[in-house]
Amino acid sequence: MNALAATNRNFRHAAKILGLDTKLEKSLLIPFREIKVECTIPKDDGSLVSFVGFRIQHDNARGPMKGGIRYHPEVDPDEVNALAQLMTWKTAVVDIPYGGAKGGIGCTPRELSKSELERLTRVFTQKIHDLIGIHTDVPAPDMGTNAQTMAWILDEYSKFHGHSPAVVTGKPIDLGGSLGREAATGRGVVFASEALLAEYGKSVKGLTFVIQGFGNVGSWAARLIHERGGKVIAVSDITGAVKNPKGIDIPELLKHKETTNSLKNFPGGDAMDPNELLVHECDVLMPSALGGVLNRENAADVKAKFIIEAANHPTDPEADEILSKKGVIILPDIYANAGGVTVSYFEWVQNIQGFMWDEDKVNGELQRYMTKAFHNIKSMCKSNDCNLRMGAFTLGVNRVARATLLRGWEA
Ligand code: GLU
Repeated sequence: MNALAATNRNFRHAAKILGLDTKLEKSLLIPFREIKVECTIPKDDGSLVSFVGFRIQHDNARGPMKGGIRYHPEVDPDEVNALAQLMTWKTAVVDIPYGGAKGGIGCTPRELSKSELERLTRVFTQKIHDLIGIHTDVPAPDMGTNAQTMAWILDEYSKFHGHSPAVVTGKPIDLGGSLGREAATGRGVVFASEALLAEYGKSVKGLTFVIQGFGNVGSWAARLIHERGGKVIAVSDITGAVKNPKGIDIPELLKHKETTNSLKNFPGGDAMDPNELLVHECDVLMPSALGGVLNRENAADVKAKFIIEAANHPTDPEADEILSKKGVIILPDIYANAGGVTVSYFEWVQNIQGFMWDEDKVNGELQRYMTKAFHNIKSMCKSNDCNLRMGAFTLGVNRVARATLLRGWEA
């Protein structure tokens, strides 16, 4: 099932639990605006190359639309649409005053030079600058993009609209970025895990973790789990996978990755088959990379007791069903990885206030938002007798539906 069909299915299930009016249900699924642009740039060798870029703005009932921009070869409109919709529910779950959007360019960033990436980002910004803005749609990093990408968007946008730091989040600190934003998604994942584990009388310390993905989210989550005494026993990324049943020394692995750009040949562990990683024996599995990685092919073999969805949409509905039957507890993406967008909100607030917070304040507020959202989800689970995914969906969808009705959508 593709990402959009899966997301729509989860939404419809939540709408049914909430007893949403069918017209309202239908209208909440339709995106506000779908933008598709061709981005043609000269390559460093002088030849011309064209990439397709998207920005899909899903809903703005609760505030400006918000979400990342992804550079990845598999970017397609259906997937961006699903991710935009997930942002709407995600911002509502953590109760920050935003709607949802997502963007992407179908490209392989590793194969482009820095100056090609800069030209591509500037052309994309030129084509969408009229449709984004501090109070309309605020982009941020996602897979394949980072603070530098946001700096280029900010610079290009400012040529048309004047200096507007709050038009993007996840910026470099020197350009108005927030302390703690870089680590925020991984840190939020750990706060979310702690809230869940506490329900079962457990904590990160002493449990075994398997992490798929060692990019921004996975590597920060791994570092913070390691700091708290959790044992990360296997990690993978596109370069390979490494395991160590005694626990991987994460600071060493980070150094190794920084110097070699790869997880291969790490002396502190053994190489393993990346396909085996998701079904490796552990307490907690954290898919922190692409969507759809847990599916009917592998779900029955998963051995973890808890799955924390650090990635967006890592579990497809078929896997969801199989895993639930096995009694695996899944902490859903629209809550588990919401730390990034939550600190994006703090960054936007700081830019608008013109006042910078210190890192302890950022991290403290992040923990407060994540913990509160967990308890809100739990009460939805209790009142609707549903699992955590439906608890999170009903919480988010209900908040958006309420805002939509208050605006008087039927007039
Ligand atoms: N790309 C991140 C996400 O999927 C962050 C989005 C944001 O900060 O706006 O949640």
